[in-house]
Amino acid sequence: MNFQLTEEQQLIEQSARDFAKEFLDPIAVQLDYTGEFPKAVIAELANHDFLGLHLPAEAGGAGAGFVSYVAVIESLSRSSAAVTSIINNQAMASYAIQTWGSDAQKKQYVRAFIKGETIGAFAVCENGPTTGIGPDALNATKTEDGYVLKGTKAYVRNAGEAGVYVVFAVTDAADPNALTAFVVDASAAGLKVGPRLNTMGLKGCPVAHVVFDDVKVPETAVLGSLKAGREIATRVLALASVAEAAQTVGIGQAAVEHAAAYAKQRVQFGKPIATLQAIQTLLAEAATDCYLARLALRAAAQLVEDGKPFEAEAAIVKSFLARLGSKILVDSCQVEGGMGFSESMPLPRLFRDIAGTTLLDSPADFPDYAIAASIA
Ligand SMILES: Cc1cc2nc3c(=O)[nH]c(=O)nc-3n(C[C@H](O)[C@H](O)[C@H](O)COP(=O)(O)OP(=O)(O)OC[C@H]3O[C@@H](n4cnc5c(N)ncnc54)[C@H](O)[C@@H]3O)c2cc1C
Repeated sequence: MNFQLTEEQQLIEQSARDFAKEFLDPIAVQLDYTGEFPKAVIAELANHDFLGLHLPAEAGGAGAGFVSYVAVIESLSRSSAAVTSIINNQAMASYAIQTWGSDAQKKQYVRAFIKGETIGAFAVCENGPTTGIGPDALNATKTEDGYVLKGTKAYVRNAGEAGVYVVFAVTDAADPNALTAFVVDASAAGLKVGPRLNTMGLKGCPVAHVVFDDVKVPETAVLGSLKAGREIATRVLALASVAEAAQTVGIGQAAVEHAAAYAKQRVQFGKPIATLQAIQTLLAEAATDCYLARLALRAAAQLVEDGKPFEAEAAIVKSFLARLGSKILVDSCQVEGGMGFSESMPLPRLFRDIAGTTLLDSPADFPDYAIAASIA
């Protein structure tokens, strides 16, 4: 297996790095401070074709493939994982509609996502023990001409900014495991976005509960077929695991690079701390962790691109990085000593962001560890 990016993939990766330098680096600190949704950046992402990278050309996307998508997410996450959290959740919605949607659904939403005119949100998680079970579970009751949705989706990214939500609901009370996916316009009467969570990191990517208070949707709002929701959610969450692992690698790489640069200029005992073997060991191990994580990430992304089974490998990279990501940050912080602990340096933000990327989208009923263990 070749782990190197092709020439075309390298060009795409470089364009993401250039984009990050021009549009993300100048706002990353401010975004973290204000938590304001970065509308102007979303428009620029669309102008640079980053919102349709994963979608086929016939849908209006760039048809760049999943390896390129993951390389772009990693590159942008070096500067702002808040922005890539918005992109990933939007990509989950656009991929789901492009893959399982009717012609009318694709026509209505997919190009609008790619152009950045509509933000998408993908909402599986609920407050209960598992999606579909518990007092807040989203239920869809059949009416003559459609469904009435009642319940709450928890911790929805892009909530409040999204024009459309892909949600999963129980359509048969006797079979709560069999979820059905629905595409719901944000303007639907009864859809209420709760207060925005004051999250620890990834600030700028809004997260809130979304309440469906007897929301009426037409029959055409069903995505795919009735009771196909679990299959859709499982596949999209597996793809998201790879993309979220890419965020973690990007944040980790940014932390190592910053710590290495700091170590070269911080002088103690008359010489830069980068000359001390203990510091070199910390940096070398963190750089090694990033390198190996990237190989695992590319292997999983290549399986996706080749149309091969990838679910176990996706779970492996996500759960592996959940452990490794925080270690890279701890080691990088150690290198920077007291100064690295200061909010005037980037490591605290990266630390808080990596805690978020390892938590995203790991519902108890779609457990990464259990899927990863299935390969053993
Ligand atoms: C920043 C952020 C953004 C998110 N965005 C989205 C989104 O856009 N869409 C969406 O659908 N969801 C989203 N989520 C929700 C995310 O998927 C859930 O937070 C995650 O699934 C965990 O569920 P929970 O918060 O209810 O944790 P809980 O289920 O309460 O888990 C708490 C702890 O208990 C452990 N635990 C739970 N059950 C078991 C068990 N049976 N055995 C052993 N241990 C167990 C968990 O591993 C965890 O350590 C987001 C979360 C975050 C933090």
